[in-house]
Amino acid sequence: MKIVKLMVVLSLLFGSIALSAEGAHVVDAPKCVGCKLCVPVCPTKAITMIKGKAVIDPAKCVDCALCVPKCPTKAISKKK
Ligand code: SF4
Ligand code: SF4
Repeated sequence: MKIVKLMVVLSLLFGSIALSAEGAHVVDAPKCVGCKLCVPVCPTKAITMIKGKAVIDPAKCVDCALCVPKCPTKAISKKK
């Protein structure tokens, strides 16, 4: 997991990650219970709470998937 975080930081520094709405992770709103556990783990601060539900900004999401295992209801997945 440390390697993943390091890769994210390096990629951000060198701007080599392509930000793409197609590749972003998304929250299935009906499954989100508003626990906020996913928010602090996001290295790009892409996750915000709106009306009690987590919302991922596709322009900020770098697809690192660090938020996925934090969600107790499996509400976060890679956009297909
Ligand atoms: S996949 Fe990574 S960048 Fe995207 S919302 Fe989750 S933690 Fe943030
Ligand atoms: S961890 Fe899952 S249930 Fe909790 S706020 Fe994030 S998306 Fe919603």
